[in-house]
Amino acid sequence: MDILLKAMLKEDPVMVVSLIDTETVEKARKIHDTLPTATAALGRVISGALLLASTLKENQKITLQIRGDGPVREIIAEADAQYRVRAYIKRPHIHMGLKDGKLDVGRAIGKGFINVIRDLGLRDVYQSSVPLQTGEIATDLAYYLNVSEQIPSAVSLGVYVDTDNSVKASGGFMVQRLPGARDEVISFIERKLSNVKTASSMILDGLSPLEIIEEAVGLPVDVLDEKEVTYYCSCSKERVLGAMVTLGRKEIEEMLKKGENLEVSCRFCGNVYDVTLKDLEVILRGYDNN
Ligand SMILES: [Zn+2]
Repeated sequence: MDILLKAMLKEDPVMVVSLIDTETVEKARKIHDTLPTATAALGRVISGALLLASTLKENQKITLQIRGDGPVREIIAEADAQYRVRAYIKRPHIHMGLKDGKLDVGRAIGKGFINVIRDLGLRDVYQSSVPLQTGEIATDLAYYLNVSEQIPSAVSLGVYVDTDNSVKASGGFMVQRLPGARDEVISFIERKLSNVKTASSMILDGLSPLEIIEEAVGLPVDVLDEKEVTYYCSCSKERVLGAMVTLGRKEIEEMLKKGENLEVSCRFCGNVYDVTLKDLEVILRGYDNN
């Protein structure tokens, strides 16, 4: 079972979140049929969105979007406060040579932007974008949190892809300094983090989410929350039709002219919906009523 665990240092306001999402990322790999470098990139973005989701309140959602000039082009992951996540990758069939024995996610992503959309419910949507620093996702996410949200943060993300291309370990952790934390505690954690093992190797070693946190910060914590993580897509035929409305009247009219039913698949889960000529007519009538 995939788990996200939130904890706070016993003595100082430092939030530590750890995540194991191996099954979730493996599910995403199967849905999107990714090759190893793309799998690692997709998995890191999924894990990043889940770590960000740990800061949400009920009914809120977060979208993490990475756009780069590398071959992968674009990855989107959406997560909610129940740690349900779904993701999309524009070019899944990307595999590149290793760099220092690791999957070269930075090159697969390239230069570009990290974009975070916080949907706080009641139509409050906040969007913020910063340039990618390395394309490795974890450093980019930390940079975003430091610069855009002004929360000094450290982020580690890792995906280990097996020789049969399946996901053998995926997850990460995030450390956030909140107001009031002592400088000496932060320096201690920084030293600890500078030679800590990678998240994926800790997961491969069989560490639990709590053990990952203890290994990462080396200080006693209080567990605040521990919840299951799942890959979940909220799509439905209604939503697919709703999205088609944005194509515009001309496009819909042309589809009708062809006189054939369509198959439209959800880009997050691959579910296929049959869109009939009758559905297209309903969309057209909708334009008249507005
Ligand atoms: Zn879907």
